[in-house]
Amino acid sequence: MDYLPLFHNLKGRPCLVVGGGATALRKVRPLLEAGADITIVAPEITPGLASLVGEKGMHFLQRPFQPGDLDGAALVIAATNNRSVNETVSSLAMAGNIPVNVVDNPDLCSVIFPSIIDRSPVQIAVSTGGSGPVLARLLRGRLEAMLPNNFGRLARLAERFRDRVKTRIPEENSRRHFWERIFEGPVAELVYSDREQEAEALFLAQLTSAETTALGEVYLVGGGPGDPDLLTFKALRLMQQADIVLYDRLVSKPVLNLVRRDAERIYVGKTAGDHPVTQDNINRKLAEFARQGHRVLRLKGGDPFIFGRGGEEIEHLADQGIPFQVVPGITAASGCASYAGIPLTHRDYAQSVRFIAGHRKNDVLDLPWPELVTPGQTLVFYMGLNGLEAICDGLMEHGMARTMPAALIEKGTSDRQRVFTGTLADLPARVREGQARAPTLIIVGEVVRLRDKLNWFGDAAPQDQGDMDDKFPL
Ligand code: SAH
Repeated sequence: MDYLPLFHNLKGRPCLVVGGGATALRKVRPLLEAGADITIVAPEITPGLASLVGEKGMHFLQRPFQPGDLDGAALVIAATNNRSVNETVSSLAMAGNIPVNVVDNPDLCSVIFPSIIDRSPVQIAVSTGGSGPVLARLLRGRLEAMLPNNFGRLARLAERFRDRVKTRIPEENSRRHFWERIFEGPVAELVYSDREQEAEALFLAQLTSAETTALGEVYLVGGGPGDPDLLTFKALRLMQQADIVLYDRLVSKPVLNLVRRDAERIYVGKTAGDHPVTQDNINRKLAEFARQGHRVLRLKGGDPFIFGRGGEEIEHLADQGIPFQVVPGITAASGCASYAGIPLTHRDYAQSVRFIAGHRKNDVLDLPWPELVTPGQTLVFYMGLNGLEAICDGLMEHGMARTMPAALIEKGTSDRQRVFTGTLADLPARVREGQARAPTLIIVGEVVRLRDKLNWFGDAAPQDQGDMDDKFPL
């Protein structure tokens, strides 16, 4: 982090602006909005600034800057077009530990101005650290669009009723749920459309009838294969509401980062051969947290109902009458196939697709081989990295051509994605040579040929390959 964002209370505090041109005027405006006590020092000022001085009761010293001008200042802005004056102001201010901003010159600044979205009392400040004003503007545009004009009025309404709500709903979880319903429901809509009286009446009605004990719930959510842009809107919404999240190894860091900041995070992943948290234990925890009134997010990689044991977890909840919702996610097969440019079905090559668990149980791969070698289908093996050779051998032994195209996709959809292609005969050697690491997905079938033409995403750069630990939690 290059800068620490802070909000500065400048009401009635002395601020010095050195310079009297258009640049100074640009900085004076936000200082006025913040209620600062402003002194401008400059040999000359523009008529626009001069009239503002009179109108707003600012002080104006018509002369060049002198070091003593800094005495007692809470903030200094250097906005002259003379670099040496700006440098002098900056170095004196820094020596005296007075926050200083030199317009358009980040090297001389100890503080920088963000792009501001003002919905007072709600304020958003955006900074790109001086590196990208266009980027900051674009971002600001998006945020402006997200925040209705009356957003500040909604915040004021909340401010007015905060104590009353606290008395009526003392329990913290229930109170947060109540506020979320207010901010996302019809009360907010009424405020946004300028019907504040009706909003207030509805607010009071909802407060009177509000539940004072929270009813917990479990959200079983598919987090997709890795790229956070592949989350559904619903997944994101529930991720933002959760109080506690239990997540797996296959949930990528960028996805996990989108869970509500202050939600408690519990890792319940398994690594091959090592089960730190048993399935029973997970089932029990989900029920227990929900019964305590929490909104529990059970976040899984891919889709929870595809090799995800999601069914077992909610069966347990259903048995105990605990409410739950299930949100599908993009399964590894869809994600990896799309990002590798391999359509899973194709009119000419494959009329069906099979998802197969490719891990060995007690070293044996027990699969319905004769069905798998039937032509006209695509085979997708999950959990198949260790069994890759056995899978390819098994298919060839049961009659599939040695030249059948096959691909292995490592860390699909992430910026560390690598794709190995070959045939049943040579893919295992290629993968061994490239030292692929989990998670990987295997696709077998004629459709793999299409990758040469349809590959759009590309592989990770060599320096980004290999270690994935900073993308997936384990
Ligand atoms: N519920 C998950 C699958 C869990 S089984 C889903 O729907 O995707 C775990 C297996 O999924 C891994 O062994 C691997 O085969 C596959 N997998 C998950 N994410 C992957 C990714 N980003 N790239 C490649 N394979 C992945």
